[in-house]
Amino acid sequence: MNQNTIYKKVLVTGGSGLVGKAIQRISNQYYFHFIFLSSQEADLKSYDQTFACFQEKNPDYVIHLAAQVGGLYKNMNYQVSMLEDNLQINLNVLKVCHQLNIQKVICCLSTCIYPSQVTYPIQEEMLHQGPPHNSNYGYSYAKRMLEVQCRAYQECFKRDYLCVIPTNIYGEDDNFSLENGHLIPALIHQCYLSHLKGTPFPIKGSGQARRQFIYAPDLAKIIIWMLEGYSGKDSLIACPPGKNEYSVLEVAELIRNNFETQPEITLLKEYPEGQMKKTVNAEKLNKLLPEFQFTTLEKGIEKTVKWFRDSYPKCRL
Ligand code: NDP
Repeated sequence: MNQNTIYKKVLVTGGSGLVGKAIQRISNQYYFHFIFLSSQEADLKSYDQTFACFQEKNPDYVIHLAAQVGGLYKNMNYQVSMLEDNLQINLNVLKVCHQLNIQKVICCLSTCIYPSQVTYPIQEEMLHQGPPHNSNYGYSYAKRMLEVQCRAYQECFKRDYLCVIPTNIYGEDDNFSLENGHLIPALIHQCYLSHLKGTPFPIKGSGQARRQFIYAPDLAKIIIWMLEGYSGKDSLIACPPGKNEYSVLEVAELIRNNFETQPEITLLKEYPEGQMKKTVNAEKLNKLLPEFQFTTLEKGIEKTVKWFRDSYPKCRL
């Protein structure tokens, strides 16, 4: 543990969300004083509230996770708020960090904001090489501007404002909404209902779209490492190495394996399913952290399903 980091204050925006809670769970393993924010403390869409809150908390570092986040259907149905809310939040957070002389900020992008027409695998530097997929252009352009903003602060003011670019994140404390949740939490919720009712387990789309995943507690460790151990300036894609891409159908089967009744899967092929694949290459990060032990998708899903079943219905639905 680096002695210089003892008692440094780290403010985590989005501290009540999936990744924020994952950081909370491991926060006592680090010599940092973490402060976790939710929208209750400050609406980060408001510059005044953001400034007042950050000034009062007076952090040394910021982990910026707060965002309007959701799965395919939330992105498709709320393009304006996915664009405007995220632009406003990010604009205020980085501007205030700079004004309060906060030297290091780790921000969160997403691999789903990359161009829809690219040569695979996707690498960090391809972010602006074409328009994003139509299903999530609001969220994507707002997040792309966050990368631009970080780069501008690096170049103009020598700030260490950096971006991590995770693939699909899942885990305990996720948003398990059937309408607005991401793929894994929405499927877990759906499978649970099918299990309770003894009905088939419906999957929207052909089941053939392919995705990569990272378990939130693994990402939490990577973000804290970026804060204390990464001196580079480049954005880093975060995704486990090796066999790491699964079809939606394979994911549904892994989820179903955790339910005693094993509900039969029904494909609802008339529904949209977004981009068919978004394969990324996370070699840059994985070379920097060669010993990092990623949680397998099987294990992560097993833990998440157990947490969901123990927490239901007192979780985000
Ligand atoms: P969640 O949806 O779980 O949490 C969102 C967080 O943002 C909550 O703490 C919420 O506070 C806060 N928030 C939202 N709006 C505001 C606001 N106006 N003012 C203050 N706080 C606000 O998000 P995740 O943990 O899943 O995502 C963390 C980061 O990772 C985000 O930047 C996201 O874009 C990125 N990401 C997520 C992926 C995923 O699969 N989940 C994939 C790739 C990247 P409150 O609880 O009070 O509403």
